[in-house]
Amino acid sequence: MAVSSDQNIKSNIEITGKILSEISKLAEHGFGKGTVADYISSLGKVNPNQYGLAVVYRNGDIVEAGNSGTRFSIQSVSKLFTLTLAMRLVGPELWTRVHRNPSMDRFNSVSDLENNNGIPGNPFVNAGAIVVSDAIASRSAAPNRIVLDFMRTLSGQNDLYVDQQVALDEAETGHRNFALAYLLKDYGNISNKVDDVLSLYFRHCAIEMSCTELAQAALYLANDGVDPKSGQRIVSAEETRELNALLVTSGMYNSSGEFAFRVGLPAKSGVSGGILAIVPQRMAICVWSPELDTNGNSVVGQLILEYLTQKLGISVF
Ligand code: GLN
Repeated sequence: MAVSSDQNIKSNIEITGKILSEISKLAEHGFGKGTVADYISSLGKVNPNQYGLAVVYRNGDIVEAGNSGTRFSIQSVSKLFTLTLAMRLVGPELWTRVHRNPSMDRFNSVSDLENNNGIPGNPFVNAGAIVVSDAIASRSAAPNRIVLDFMRTLSGQNDLYVDQQVALDEAETGHRNFALAYLLKDYGNISNKVDDVLSLYFRHCAIEMSCTELAQAALYLANDGVDPKSGQRIVSAEETRELNALLVTSGMYNSSGEFAFRVGLPAKSGVSGGILAIVPQRMAICVWSPELDTNGNSVVGQLILEYLTQKLGISVF
């Protein structure tokens, strides 16, 4: 049984030209149905009516559509990678500082944190990701480089960079993130200086990557923790399972349940319109389209993932 199912797993699922043209129609149809996030001013200037799709299989094959090579601000998609890094650097002790439960509040809710006595509900809401940044800062001699270097290694792209303007804009209008960080500090759940922790947080949100680069970077989550490109172990198989579980329950914020119902893949979204999804043992998929629904998730991105998972039968449920 192991042999035949393994062979089955290794073979690529065919994404035909017909499927790709349906996806392009879906995108055209979905444009105009959401709003581009503009609370970070540089994000508001992006052309809303575009989309990208990249499917990267474990064996390295790639299927791309739309603006798959256009770099965008990865925003909260970065939280998946900073969590991975913190799990590597800190180990299970991290879980004394952040819970692992879905949140029914918005991703930047202050009351949620207050109600939980300064322990964020999960590592993907802003408060949780700020704690994760603090944990990384405490374990690294060069915290401002470590996340970017990690992303360069995982994606295989040495020219990845932080868009300084986006990071500055975030710092300028990130009043809620400052509120969350000061509250965390008050509860004793941040060790470093608030400004330093937020600088790290804003900078990793402001890394620019394309759909293809993000899907390449996440392949270890589709391969039991080993990056199939380099053969390097990133996390253990057990930690991979934990990361994928957290993505299912919290990766799409307070609409994670709805997304599990419609799509059924571990996934992480960001306010710039990116969604990175994992098909365990098979592939990583990244979609991007800037217009968001009221929960802060890409409208067209979700439509594409819903269509693709149904068409290919690749939901984990
Ligand atoms: N940098 C953004 C913020 O802190 C990330 C939020 C997101 O992508 N959902 O508000």
